[in-house]
Amino acid sequence: MAEPQLCPACGGGRVTEKIEYTVETDSRGDQVAREHRYLSPCGRCGGTGEVWG
Ligand SMILES: [Zn+2]
Repeated sequence: MAEPQLCPACGGGRVTEKIEYTVETDSRGDQVAREHRYLSPCGRCGGTGEVWG
């Protein structure tokens, strides 16, 4: 029988850090790259921190 194991993607942390890059225009009209970091539920385990088998 399969047993739940610590999710290798998030290490059991249930969330993973995602980084989204966007290009925005600053006050001088120059385009600058910005990165947005945010946490979202792990896609591998669905936010449970465990995977089966
Ligand atoms: Zn996970």
